[in-house]
Amino acid sequence: MTTTRPTAESAAAAAAVGGLTLSEQAALGSGADFASTKALGDVPSVTMVDGPAGLRMQDLSQGADHLGLRPSLPATAFPSGTGLAQSWNPELIGRVANAIGAEARAAGANVVLGPAINMKRDPRAGRNFEYYSEDPHLTGVLASAYVTGLQTNGVGASLKHFAANNTEHERFRSSSDVDERTLREIYLRAFQRVVHDAEPWTVMCSYNRLNGVPVAENRWLLHDVLRHEWGYDGVVVSDWGAVDDRVASVHAGVDLEMPANSDGSHDRALVDAVEDGSIGAQDVRTAAERVAALALRSQSTANADSTWDEQEHHTLAREAAAAGIVLLQNDGTLPLSAGTSLAIIGHFATVPRTQGGGSSLVNALRMEIPLDEIRAAASSPSVTWAQGFDPDHPDAADSLRTDAVAAARTADVAVLFLGLAGNQEAEGFDRASIDLPADQIALLTAVHDVQPNVVVVLSHGGALALADVTGHAAAILDAPLLGQGAGGAIADALFGTVNPSGRLGETLPERLQDVPAFGNFPGEQLHVRYGEGLFVGYRWYDARNIDVVFPFGHGLSYTSFDYADLEVVSEEHGVTAHATVTNTGSRAGREVVQLYTGLDQSDYVRPVRELKAFTSVQLEPGESRRVHLHVRRDDLAVWDARHQRWTVEPGTYRVDVGASSRDIRLHGTIAVAGGAHHVHLTLESSIEELLQDPVAGEAIGGMIAAAFGGDGDDSAAHSGLDVLRMIGSTPVRRFVASLGGAHQLGMIQHILDQANAAHTD
Ligand code: BGC
Repeated sequence: MTTTRPTAESAAAAAAVGGLTLSEQAALGSGADFASTKALGDVPSVTMVDGPAGLRMQDLSQGADHLGLRPSLPATAFPSGTGLAQSWNPELIGRVANAIGAEARAAGANVVLGPAINMKRDPRAGRNFEYYSEDPHLTGVLASAYVTGLQTNGVGASLKHFAANNTEHERFRSSSDVDERTLREIYLRAFQRVVHDAEPWTVMCSYNRLNGVPVAENRWLLHDVLRHEWGYDGVVVSDWGAVDDRVASVHAGVDLEMPANSDGSHDRALVDAVEDGSIGAQDVRTAAERVAALALRSQSTANADSTWDEQEHHTLAREAAAAGIVLLQNDGTLPLSAGTSLAIIGHFATVPRTQGGGSSLVNALRMEIPLDEIRAAASSPSVTWAQGFDPDHPDAADSLRTDAVAAARTADVAVLFLGLAGNQEAEGFDRASIDLPADQIALLTAVHDVQPNVVVVLSHGGALALADVTGHAAAILDAPLLGQGAGGAIADALFGTVNPSGRLGETLPERLQDVPAFGNFPGEQLHVRYGEGLFVGYRWYDARNIDVVFPFGHGLSYTSFDYADLEVVSEEHGVTAHATVTNTGSRAGREVVQLYTGLDQSDYVRPVRELKAFTSVQLEPGESRRVHLHVRRDDLAVWDARHQRWTVEPGTYRVDVGASSRDIRLHGTIAVAGGAHHVHLTLESSIEELLQDPVAGEAIGGMIAAAFGGDGDDSAAHSGLDVLRMIGSTPVRRFVASLGGAHQLGMIQHILDQANAAHTD
C-alpha cells in the first residue's frame, strides 16, 4: 500500500476544504488556467509544467498550448524517453529527473507532467519517442527512478498517460480493447510498480477509452484498481481536455480536471449533481481534499529562490545523451582515431534532431552541433561536410548526393547522419511506415559504393526498420532524440571518449509486417483491438521465432565481456541470481546484464522469456566482478483472470542471463513454490480440478475408479483409452450419471464442502 499523502497534510487539507462551500469544493477540482489550479480559502494554487525531457514553462500571457506550438522559457533539454531508457541506468535517470526538478522549483512550478510511460505497443505510435520501452519491467524500474529523483527535489511527478494510450490516431475517441490479463501484465504493470515504489504525487488519466469506457470516467481503472488495489492516495489529474462529463469523472475517481473549464459549467454540473443526489457530496469533498493536500504539500516544498547551475545541467544532459546511444553494429571501424580523415554527411549533422514535437518540446538553453563537436574532437584537419539530403526538399536529392559521394570517396571514413525529420513524427499522429526516407537510403547506397568505411548515425524518435542499412554500414550508432547534449555525445561515442553502453528498449524488426500489432494498429471504427495479447515486442518475436534486425536489449561496446558462474538462489521474497562478468577487451566499459525468466510447463499462455531484472557493471580491462540480480516474487506472478488475482505458479523456472534478449550467455533454473491459492470447488468444477485437490481428489478418484472398473475387464482399459484425459474437462455435475446417478449429488457436494473447508485462503 502506498500513502502518497502524509497524514499532516491530509488533516490540514480536510480542515481547509471543510471551510469551503460545495461550489468552492467543486471549483477546486478544475484548473484556474492552462497550467494552475485555483487558490481558494486556505488552499494555495498548484502550478504544473510540461516535461518530461526538461521544462516546458510557457508564459501564459502569450498563450499556452499542449502541442509545443507557442514559445516556452529556456530550459535544459535532456534526452527524450527513448534515449533515457536506452541507458538502462536508473541512477542516471534519477539524477536527470532531479535536475529537472531543480529547474521546475526555481521556475515556481510544483508538478512536472511526466514521466510518460505507456508501452511501445507498435513502432508507428507517434509518441513512442516520449515513452521508454516495449517492456513493463524496464519501464517500471526506470520510471520509478525518474519519479523519485524528481520528487526528492520537492516537485511532484505526474505519471502519464494512465492507461492503454498506445496510439495517437483518434487518441481522444478510440477505445483500447484489451483483455484483462494483458492489461494487467503489460499495460498497467509499469504504472503499478511506479505507484508502489515511487509514490508519484499525481497520476494523469489518458484521453482514450478503455474497453469502451472513457478512461476519465472509468471507475474500474481509477477507483477499483488504482485506488483500492494499489492503494494510491495522490491526485488523479485529467489529461488536458480529457474530461467531458465531470460528474462521471469525479465518480470514477478524477480529482482534478485540467486545464480550466473556462465557463465554469463543469463545476456547476457537479454542484447540481450533488443537489439532485446523482453523486454524493463526499465524492466532491474527497476530490477537493486530495487537490488541497497536493497544494499544501507543494507549498511546503516550494522555493522559488532556489538556483541551479546551467553548466552542470548541460554537462549532465551530455552525459545522459551519451548513455542513451546504442552501438548497434561495428566491424572495428569505430571508435575513430583522431587523425582519420572524415567526410561528415547528412543534414542532421548540422541541424540535429534532438526532441520530439508536441507538449514535451523544450526551448533548449544550448544546442551542441554534431559537426562542430566532431571537428573539435578530431585532430585531423581533414573533416569535410556535405549535406547529402534535405528533408524539406527531396527534389534536391541528386545534386546533394553527388557532392556527398565526392566527399566520401576521398576520406578515410564517411559518417552519415540519417534519420526522420520532425514533421514525420510528433505527438498527435502516428507514422504509416517505419522506413527511412528513400532518398536517404539511396544516399547511403551511393556512398557505400565508393567508401566501405561507412558509419551511420541515426536520429529519430520511433523505431526504424534497418534491414536496408546494415549491409551498407561498417558501424551504426543509434542516437535517438537526445536533447541539447546530443552533438557532443555523438562525438564522444564516435571517438571512444565514451565507450557506448546503451541498450535497445525495443526490438528493431525486419519489416513492418512482422510487428505484433500489424493488422491491429491503429485500429478501425474507433476501436483498437489488442489482438496480440501479451505478445508485445520481443515476447512476440521470440514466441514465433521471427528474425529481427536488432533484438530488445541489444547494444555493443568497444570492449567485450565474458559471463560465468551463474548461481540462482531462492529467497523469501523472490529469487536472486549471481554471475561473474569479466571485461575481456582492452578498454574500460560498462556492461548491462539482463535476466529473463520463463516457465515452459505452465497452465498459462506465456512468452518464452520476460525481463525480470537487470543491472550494470563498470569494469576496467581484465577486471571481473560478481553481479547480483534480484527478482521480486511479485514479478513472477501472472494475472489469473478467472479467479481475479495475481498468482505465482509453482514450477521450475528458466533463468536466462545475458547481454540481450537474444544473446543469453548463462542458463539456470530455480524451483519456485506456488501461491497458497485454492480453487473453490463447486458442482461446476471439472473432474480435473477435483482430482488436483488433495481432499476431493482422493475421494473422486476412488469413485471414478469404481465407475470405470480397473479390474482389467472394462472396455476402456481394453481399448487403451486414457479415460481421465477424456473426462477431465467435464464439470462434475454433468458426470453424476457415470458416477452412480443423481442420488450421488449429495455425496459429491459433501466431498466438495470438505475440500473447501480444508483451505483457509
Ligand atoms: C498531453 C500531455 C500533456 C498535456 C499538457 C496533452 O495533450 O497528452 O502529455 O502533459 O497535454 O500539455
